[in-house]
Amino acid sequence: MIRRIDLRGSSVDPRDVLPRAAVDVESVLHTVRPIVEDVRQRGTEAVLEWGEKLDGVRPPSLRVPQAALDSALANLDPAVRAALEEAIRRARLVHEDQRRTDTTTQVVPGGSVTERWLPVERVGLYVPGGRAVYPSSVVMNVVPAQVAGVASFAVASPPQKDFGGLPHPTILAACALLDVHEVYAAGGAQAVAMFAYGTEDVAPVYMVTGPGNIYVTAAKRLLKGRIGIDSEAGPTEIAVLADDTADAAYVAADLISQAEHDVIAASVLVTTSIELADAVEAELAIQVPATKHSERIAEALAGSQSGIVLVDTLDAGLAVVDAYAAEHLEIQTRDAREVALRVRNAGAIFVGAHAPVSLGDYAAGSNHVLPTGGCACHSSGLSVQTFLRGIHVIDYDADALRDVAHHVIALANAEDLPGHAAAVEVRVNRPSGG
Ligand code: NAD
Repeated sequence: MIRRIDLRGSSVDPRDVLPRAAVDVESVLHTVRPIVEDVRQRGTEAVLEWGEKLDGVRPPSLRVPQAALDSALANLDPAVRAALEEAIRRARLVHEDQRRTDTTTQVVPGGSVTERWLPVERVGLYVPGGRAVYPSSVVMNVVPAQVAGVASFAVASPPQKDFGGLPHPTILAACALLDVHEVYAAGGAQAVAMFAYGTEDVAPVYMVTGPGNIYVTAAKRLLKGRIGIDSEAGPTEIAVLADDTADAAYVAADLISQAEHDVIAASVLVTTSIELADAVEAELAIQVPATKHSERIAEALAGSQSGIVLVDTLDAGLAVVDAYAAEHLEIQTRDAREVALRVRNAGAIFVGAHAPVSLGDYAAGSNHVLPTGGCACHSSGLSVQTFLRGIHVIDYDADALRDVAHHVIALANAEDLPGHAAAVEVRVNRPSGG
């Protein structure tokens, strides 16, 4: 069911034996480009038509009426409402601690540099809704944007055939709970283009964030530059670093929960214990057939992107998980906190037996929009920082400029930019009262 990769006594690069599922975004650019161009040219009508064509329903209006948001919230299952409220409360706690404060550095007397943190003024938040609905993604996008102080934001999610062309009611209810009033029934590339160019009914945004399928990712790639984006999300992945103290039933359940997302999701166990590897395989054989999406899960676990990796030592295991740089990394070892401190590359780290990835997906307080595809080596998940820009404010008086002028002139001349030198010389030679 899941292949075994024995790296004991081997010096092979783990990335060579754990190939990630290939998602060829380039291959759909030819599909996405005409959609983006059509929305640029024809605006709202094009977004509605592409909805009809690709989602099988023409939304009654692009903007979701406030009455539909109110009624979705009124009809929301009380247990789901309570869960969303708690998820929002916890996410706010964590994200409020991410706020940045402006800093002023007095470089020399009379010369300072201040870094001011300002929110992006308007953002578009994409909430997927093709094959499944993700109200949790509303929380994970909206909370950091709100905490960052973004003044204006809108949510887009695909129109649903079963709900008269509106986005899924649970998504609408989550928007209402978060006080989001600007919601559009638009999915895929047409939604990203709608945000980037604006239409007669939608003001353009400066940035689009949120996960989505390959068409959403391709549109973000095409429009990046015109708009800021958070990241290009690839297939989801979990790595579990475990030793002989791990509970095989927990580990198997967590590998399954990740595989449940997609047939190309990656579930990887890295362990020093052959006994644990055997026990996890036995657990998978019991748990997979008993779960709802067993076919999808079995395919993901059997794929070349998934596997059980055997290593000699915990240090070797850490080297494997660092090289892999998983979106989600669980540490199920003795002294898990200490081991977690030694990890260098991961989107998020889940410490010990009682912090499964599912907790982080919904209600840990952390963000679940995380770097995939090894991007955890250089990127972070969605956070308040994603929605902020740091602006340097340079404030020097005449004396402070004069003191450093010879250095500026030397460097300007070294770069053969005498005009740069002259802009300083004119001030030193002809001081004004300004
Ligand atoms: P989606 O909303 O991303 O995509 C649906 C849209 O795709 C449709 O509205 C349609 O416009 C477009 N589309 C579908 N077929 C098309 C075609 N042939 N040509 C052009 N456009 C087409 O929803 P989804 O498909 O369910 O994908 C959601 C993705 O988001 C999944 O991969 C899921 O794993 C991921 N996700 C990730 C996170 C995270 O935090 N990383 C969270 C939730 C979901």
